[in-house]
Amino acid sequence: MRILKKIIAYLFRDELTIRHKLVNVILGSALVVQLPSIIVSFIVGTTTAGIWAQVAMSAIIGIVMYLTNRYPDSPAPPILVATIANIFIFPVMYFMCGGYATGIVIWMLFGAIFTWLLCDIKWSVIISIISFALIAGCLHIEKNFPQYVSFLATRNDEIMDTSMAFVFVTVIFGLIFKYQTHSYEKQAKVLKENDEKLRKLNDELAEANARLESASAAKSTFLANMSHEIRTPINAVLGMDEMILRECEDKQILEYANDIDSAGHQLLSLVNDILDFSKIESGKMELHPVEYELFSVMNDCYNMIFMRAKRKDLAFRIVNDPQIPAFLFGDEVRIRQIIMNLLTNAVKYTKDGSVVLKFTYSKIDDENINLVISVKDTGIGISEENRKYLFDSFKRIDERANRNIEGTGLGLSITKKFTEMMGGTIEVDSVLYEGSTFTVTIPQKVANSSTVGHFDDRLNHRNDKLVKEEDKSREAGQTDKFIAPHARILVVDDVKMNLNVVRLLLKNTQIQIDLAASGDECLKYTLVKRYDLILMDHMMPIMDGIEALHRIREQADGLNADTPVVALTANALVGAQEMYLDEGFVAYISKPVKSIDLEACLVKHLPKDKIEIVS
Ligand code: ADP
Repeated sequence: MRILKKIIAYLFRDELTIRHKLVNVILGSALVVQLPSIIVSFIVGTTTAGIWAQVAMSAIIGIVMYLTNRYPDSPAPPILVATIANIFIFPVMYFMCGGYATGIVIWMLFGAIFTWLLCDIKWSVIISIISFALIAGCLHIEKNFPQYVSFLATRNDEIMDTSMAFVFVTVIFGLIFKYQTHSYEKQAKVLKENDEKLRKLNDELAEANARLESASAAKSTFLANMSHEIRTPINAVLGMDEMILRECEDKQILEYANDIDSAGHQLLSLVNDILDFSKIESGKMELHPVEYELFSVMNDCYNMIFMRAKRKDLAFRIVNDPQIPAFLFGDEVRIRQIIMNLLTNAVKYTKDGSVVLKFTYSKIDDENINLVISVKDTGIGISEENRKYLFDSFKRIDERANRNIEGTGLGLSITKKFTEMMGGTIEVDSVLYEGSTFTVTIPQKVANSSTVGHFDDRLNHRNDKLVKEEDKSREAGQTDKFIAPHARILVVDDVKMNLNVVRLLLKNTQIQIDLAASGDECLKYTLVKRYDLILMDHMMPIMDGIEALHRIREQADGLNADTPVVALTANALVGAQEMYLDEGFVAYISKPVKSIDLEACLVKHLPKDKIEIVS
């Protein structure tokens, strides 16, 4: 009984399709009938050929059944069974078992319908057409050549045979339909359960998503805070250091101050890299396309790298196709960053020889070009096996050999991401110990049809002009660009050192400066004094800069309801500038404050009659 249960469970296992299960039903029942009938034939003394025929038949059924269960995904067994039954067995039985007056017609009908349950539509149509032709053939032969049909002995036998066939076929179909209904109901139940599970899973997912979103928001806040917290002290260090560099005459101290300046800027660029990387990772990095002048990008890169290359005795040159459009439209800041990353690497990883920055272009159409920027060095090169890791984040190649060269392994991964964000590509060509060439291709809009000309010519021309201007101003004994002794400004920052930095940076302008260490203190000043401009830090405890600005605007009896207020902040996240302008600030200066930015902002926003240009 246990074995029988096991066999039934195996023949009806879930893994089988309904068609394979039906094949198992048919072949299983055929075997059940066939095996005892071999024994009976043996006992009643049927011919040896007859017994062998029955054994062969059982073997064929067994093999087809084995194949059905061995290859549950194959459509072949059901097709085979339908073909054998309809095209061979039933026509043969027709002639052997008494023709159309017997139950064989019902069996043939059974075979035809059963084919549609077993096979797909294509095979069902093929087999049905053949079996209809065979049935017609059988009827035709019986009508015209009745001698080929072995009729049953009596009319009674025919009626019995027909009745038995009717009962068998009805029972078989009944069972099949019952089984199908049962399977359908079982599947519907499973589907419902799965549906329920899915809905639950969906709810859990939505919950996890909400948690993730809030974690991501927390990360952004953390980044903004970290950026502020780290940039604020760097601002103080670099600002104070600039004062030492400006005012001190002791050579040794100037050397120390220079070291502080270079380490401070290095730290700043590290913080910026980490911020950029996190922004890219969280999908918050946005491009800000503007119209820009290509020469100014070339010129700034030249100025920033020239001295570094010179310190290592490397030759540095910019070569360019003079026909490149002079004014382009794209994200200038990110393009500068890409070039600077490649240039600093070229200088870092080259001991002697040269670094060449090259600009060329190819035309896409009248309004667009592909700007091609390449940086070629004669440095240590990158082996073929290491080239595949080049753009991985935090991955430094040959760490042992490069241990004395500072770096985080972020520069190239950021460069690649920026390039791709702009729809461009980056390629590297390198020979170990001979040098590398990084080539970036970025599509840019053409803003103006004028061309850039030769960089070298323009650089020389500009340098000559600068030298002349410098000589002139030296002769006049003045280096400051403006003074404003009648202007009065208020600087608000919770970090005392930052207040001092701004005060000292503006010392030579003779502006009257008040310093407030909190939003509250600021409101006390604005109540009693009228200012020409207020420089306001954003993140301050208790009352932040934005709230302080709103309070100044609404202050009853306040004297500064329309005084321009400039945000002076270490928040360097994307969208910061728009946010400050939306809040009502007239401008935004990011920390660490450069005196050139600060002075430019004051010249722009202080009343014109209080400014005296002195150069
Ligand atoms: P890192 O801060 O380490 O310079 P990058 O992402 O800029 O990070 O570069 C990844 C690695 O690629 C570097 O550690 C260096 O081994 C290799 N590399 C980058 N540029 C060059 C170059 N011009 N020549 C040789 N190796 C380079």
